[in-house]
Amino acid sequence: MAHKKTGIFKRAWIEIDLDALAHNVHDIKSKIQSGCDIMAVIKADAYGHGVGRVAERLVREGISTFAVATLSEGAEVREYAPESDILVLGYTHPADAKHLVKYRLAQLASDAVHARALDETGHKISIHVAIDTGMHRLGVEPMHFSDIESIYKSRNLTVVGTATHLASPDSLAESDIEFTELQMERFITVVQRLRDKGYDVGKLHTQSSYAIYNHPDIDCDYVRPGIMLYGVHSQDDDTKVSTDLRPVLSLKALIAQVRQIDKGESVSYGRIYTAKTPIMLATVSIGYADGIPRNLTGHDGMCIVNGRKVPIIGRVCMDMLMLDVTGAGEVKAGDIATFIGKVGDIEIRCEELADCAGTITNEILCRLGARLPRIYTEKSTEEEFVRQRL
Ligand SMILES: *Cc1c(COP(=O)(O)O)cnc(C)c1O
Repeated sequence: MAHKKTGIFKRAWIEIDLDALAHNVHDIKSKIQSGCDIMAVIKADAYGHGVGRVAERLVREGISTFAVATLSEGAEVREYAPESDILVLGYTHPADAKHLVKYRLAQLASDAVHARALDETGHKISIHVAIDTGMHRLGVEPMHFSDIESIYKSRNLTVVGTATHLASPDSLAESDIEFTELQMERFITVVQRLRDKGYDVGKLHTQSSYAIYNHPDIDCDYVRPGIMLYGVHSQDDDTKVSTDLRPVLSLKALIAQVRQIDKGESVSYGRIYTAKTPIMLATVSIGYADGIPRNLTGHDGMCIVNGRKVPIIGRVCMDMLMLDVTGAGEVKAGDIATFIGKVGDIEIRCEELADCAGTITNEILCRLGARLPRIYTEKSTEEEFVRQRL
């Protein structure tokens, strides 16, 4: 990426508050069962936060287990977390098995076919077994018990964990709560059956963020929080357990041009916006190539400029978008436009942006960053140490 070669130029950027990340880790720890550890989910470049600095800080906060989606993500995390356990949740082709060994990654075995193929490579690999209790994405269904059993008997694979993934832990509707309970019952039954037959199932884990919020009684060895580490919900919703999370990421860009346009003039591609009165128009140096959803237009207050919330008008372009800054006082080129984050008392939360774009924060966050430099802030550990001693 260009900014890696040339340094950070001011155009559009992400600010990452690593102290907020640390705060979130400790908040999650205080909410989960004692004896349960955090397996920090840092796939998709740590949900757009930049996996290197995130992993490094999480290690310093005592996290020793990570989950990623792909083999190459695992290899990257290994650089920053040399001693940690790292689990690859997504499919790894058996032809790549040697890289699991090289980077000391554990692999989630999708099913007996996957496990057998990995086993036949002859590589000594640590695996977790995926039980499909109703998500129907990856895993083996409990009714195929002999397939499940065959994985634990592999010659070259060592099973170090057994897991399932819940389909609707975010919902507080009765039928969804019942479905989660059914999934857990299926999981526990399989685990018990395996144990009765003398297999070591390793560490158990089932809960992503919303299962931590809404099913806090589940008692496994690990929880697998992703989105909650980054201090946001997936959407604006209520959860059973209340948390004190702090958003880690802010998104900002520079205003490139400001001028008045006349009543009746249209703005941007497709002319979906026409000024009903003369307006002050500001063009901002950020667009959908930076991760701003193309449909994020026509809502009030999608950006903070000069201490006021202003709307995005017209279609979002690849590299730019336009704001109506009529109500925002004196605005000039070079001023900062904030799309996610807090300016004084005014805040736009990622949940609001996601809602206007018709998606969830997970998608917004992991799509940011391809072209945006990240600026990290954290108190130096030295400073913290001194403060603790005082
Ligand atoms: C992505 C993922 C998670 C984390 O999900 P969040 O909703 O972001 O907490 C946990 N487990 C699995 C298997 C995942 O794929």
